[in-house]
Amino acid sequence: METHICVTCGTQFPPREGVPERCPICEDERQYVGLEGQQWIALGELRATHRNVIYEEGDKLWGIRTEPKFAIGQRALFVETPKGGFLWDCVSLLDADTVSRVQGLGGLTGIAISHPHYYTSMVEWSRALGGVPIYLHEADRQWVQRIDSSIVFWSGETKRVSDDLTLIRVGGHFHGFQVLHWAAGEHGRGVLMTGDMPQVCPDRRWVSFMYSYPNFVPLNAATVRDVVRKLEPYSFSKLHGAWPKFAVQGDPKEALRRSAQRYLRALGDLEPIHSDGMAVRDV
Ligand SMILES: [Zn+2]
Ligand SMILES: [Zn+2]
Repeated sequence: METHICVTCGTQFPPREGVPERCPICEDERQYVGLEGQQWIALGELRATHRNVIYEEGDKLWGIRTEPKFAIGQRALFVETPKGGFLWDCVSLLDADTVSRVQGLGGLTGIAISHPHYYTSMVEWSRALGGVPIYLHEADRQWVQRIDSSIVFWSGETKRVSDDLTLIRVGGHFHGFQVLHWAAGEHGRGVLMTGDMPQVCPDRRWVSFMYSYPNFVPLNAATVRDVVRKLEPYSFSKLHGAWPKFAVQGDPKEALRRSAQRYLRALGDLEPIHSDGMAVRDV
């Protein structure tokens, strides 16, 4: 039996006879079903028509993107640490060439994915690379379409997954939305990988915050303040979004504050964000 992948969001479903009936990820208001209705592709077919490209995103940080663009179009990141590689976010395509290249970079010790839009073929990746754990926040458990024993649901606000890698639950776009902080990245100055919460804007100098990106539904002010407050304790000199080469230019912590302020102003919330605790309101 084959596994099928939703062509709009890239989610892989469990093996079955024929195609699945529907994609709950796309039926949710944070995604969409295209004009032509629900469409599927078998993993074998995706392997025949697409390939992955591995390229440098930063110091000891590799991007993995699919060509031609498939589904949402995010890239995964391979974090090279002394104890082995860690995969942040994921892409639908996994083939023999990608497996051997990832093994050549040191293999994987674990996988973590920001939110359900990038769960894609995570179970396929884990199985092909030693059955490594996939860390997801338990608040998003309902969105997992292919349940597997490799998935580790964690609870609470932070989880350390290795000596210098920490998951931080920021919420917002999804209740269990998590970002990855790499303390040793950028020669010890720190790296933050956010997926799309916050999302890096095309000019690379600003970030933004949405509940639904395809349907243009914003987040409320209290949630945006909460995201900023949760990231304040961490040091980072680089912030990577979801697309290839979408990293904030200049000081990303300053960009985060400035962007949150701009966003709040658009909502009519004029109270300043302070660096000493961010003038937080209760959410
Ligand atoms: Zn879908
Ligand atoms: Zn998303």
